[in-house]
Parts: sequence; structure tokens; C-alpha cells
Amino acid sequence: MLKLENVQSGYGSIVALRGISLEIHQGEIITLIGANGAGKSTTLMTISGVVRCRAGKILLNGEEIQKLDTDSIVKRGICQVPEGRHIFPQLTVRENLDMGAFLRKDRKQIKEDLDYVYSLFPILAERRNQDGGTLSGGEQQMLAMSRALMARPQLLLLDEPSMGLAPLIIKQIFEIIKKVNQENNTTIFLVEQNANQALQIAHRGYVIENGKIALTGSAQSLLQNVDVQKAYLGI
Ligand code: ATP
Repeated sequence: MLKLENVQSGYGSIVALRGISLEIHQGEIITLIGANGAGKSTTLMTISGVVRCRAGKILLNGEEIQKLDTDSIVKRGICQVPEGRHIFPQLTVRENLDMGAFLRKDRKQIKEDLDYVYSLFPILAERRNQDGGTLSGGEQQMLAMSRALMARPQLLLLDEPSMGLAPLIIKQIFEIIKKVNQENNTTIFLVEQNANQALQIAHRGYVIENGKIALTGSAQSLLQNVDVQKAYLGI
């Protein structure tokens, strides 16, 4: 579904991605793990067009998208939940969710999807009239994910959904990521520092080091890889 071929990008004179190649197939959960500053967020932002691709190709279902603007990329079904959530703090939970469906016109299905995200996260249904900014960190992460799901993405990009959350909430968030993938066949590209948990739910993974892919394999093989264990799993 998504293919990166030798993608390079950066910020001014800083080169962050030094030729990234990877592939994500329909229905997979793929995780990208790596140390601070390795280029994980930049990879996601380059896919979604927030950071310009300077060289290489990004193909969505065989079509080049690396020159498109972010709006066109969202319209093609790629939706990103950025690091730090970025919900609308002054809008209610319900209004935040409505924003996610902003590009859609299929009212009946929008209502079904709203019920679906409320069933995934019942706390959001309870808090539907509360301002987003007054939610806890975990609830804001749930809202950010739900808002992205309201766009019915074919590819969901998640940037460190576990960041700053308590272990129990992290467990819940990962379970829901797996559920969304299984129930809707939504393809998920998950960037995580929490490599262990990410590899527990992913089908395959990539390890990024210093703007380059250092290793790839099935989630099981990465979990058992001694170098990965030492560098990213604290074993
Ligand atoms: P973290 O887990 O700490 O978020 P990361 O793997 O997501 O790290 P990136 O945020 O993609 O890493 O950063 C890759 C490189 O690009 C780093 O060297 C970083 O300092 C640099 N970088 C990121 N954002 C900017 C920016 N807005 N301006 C300049 N340099 C940046």
C-alpha cells in the first residue's frame, strides 16, 4: 500500500532522513522503532507532507504522493496522529470528533463511526460535552486517535501514542490499536520509543538509526534479536 524509496528529508541544513526505504502492506501494523532523534517523527511527517521529501519517492497504491500537499494526502486516506496529540482544547470532545469527519459527507456512516469510537473509548462518550483541553493526557490521546478514525483513514500514522502515559493506559491504547486494525482492517504505521509494547502488537518492524533503516524483520524476530534487545528493549 505504502512504499518509501530512498526518501531523504530534513530541516534547513539538517539532514534527518538519509535514504529511507520501507514498505507497508494493506492490513498490517508496522512499527518504526529507534532512539531519540533517529528520525521517527520526521519519517511520519514526510509521509504526511508536513516535512518536504527532498529526494526519493513515496508511493501510495503505486501512485507518487511525495510532491502533494498535506490536504491532498489526507484526502487520499492517510491520517496522522501527531506526537503530543494536538487536539482542539477549546472544542468539546464531540466537536473535536466532528472535525475528524470534516471532509466527509456520508452522514449515516459518520454517525456509525461516532458510535464506534465511543464504543472503543466509552470515557469519550461520557465526556462528549467537555472541552478537549480539560481531558487527562490519556483521554486526549484517545480523543486524538478517535478524531483520526473519524476520517476513515486507509492508513493511520501514530506518533508515540504511549508518550507520557501511565502503564495501564498505555496497555489500553495498544489493545485498541490492535482492535482497530483487526476489526476495520485499518493499516497502521506506529512510531514508538516503547519498542517492546509496539513489537508485541505489530506484524513487522523497522529499526531506524541516524536517519537510515538499520534492520527490519517480523516483530517476533526483532523481539528475539540480541542487538535490538540490548539497544531498545532494555534486556
Ligand atoms: P524523538 O523520539 O526524540 O521524537 P525522532 O526519532 O522522532 O526522535 P525526529 O524528531 O524525527 O526524531 O528528529 C530527527 C532529527 O531531525 C533530529 O536530529 C532532530 O534534531 C532534527 N529535527 C527534528 N525536528 C526539527 C526541526 N523542526 N528543526 C530542525 N531540526 C529538527
